[in-house]
Amino acid sequence: MSIWKCPGQDRSFWKPEDIFESPCPHCGQSIEFWKDDITLRCPNCKQLVGNPRFDPGCAAWCSYASKCLGEMAKTIQSQPQIIRNRLEVALRKKLRPEDHDLLNRSLKAAQKAEAMALAEKTEPLIPVAASLVGPAARAKGWSREEVLALLGEAGIDDNTAGRIYQLLESGNDAGNPYRKIIDQATA
Ligand SMILES: [Zn+2]
Repeated sequence: MSIWKCPGQDRSFWKPEDIFESPCPHCGQSIEFWKDDITLRCPNCKQLVGNPRFDPGCAAWCSYASKCLGEMAKTIQSQPQIIRNRLEVALRKKLRPEDHDLLNRSLKAAQKAEAMALAEKTEPLIPVAASLVGPAARAKGWSREEVLALLGEAGIDDNTAGRIYQLLESGNDAGNPYRKIIDQATA
């Protein structure tokens, strides 16, 4: 029996692989998960087991997230990957359809920045966000307020947003560890 299910998912479009079995990490008993199960109780050892394939991505958007995930929703919603997805959506909304070249360039820059940050074992959020927003902000001449509003819409806190904006603005901060990544990603 399911303890929690994600109420934001519609089961009528499910594929057969959306129901699967996975061994209990405590006792090895095979447990049947449905993909919207968040946790189940193992029928054998009665321990709570988290769904190994539960996609926390839906928690970024789902209006039920705080209901079914509680405090965990906040943690999930502050993950870099989730923030990046939201920033991408905010950017798509702000740009016009005729800006699709600019959007593609921004998405590619963000991808490059993420790969470089991971290779250098640096926190990816700041260089990714700066590379995602930078080219568009420059091309469109967005004001500081516009950039900060966009970052805020993606769930980035004011302090981090300020640091990202600084990176977009100044070109002579060679000591900044993110500078090289952003310059190469957006070149
Ligand atoms: Zn078990």
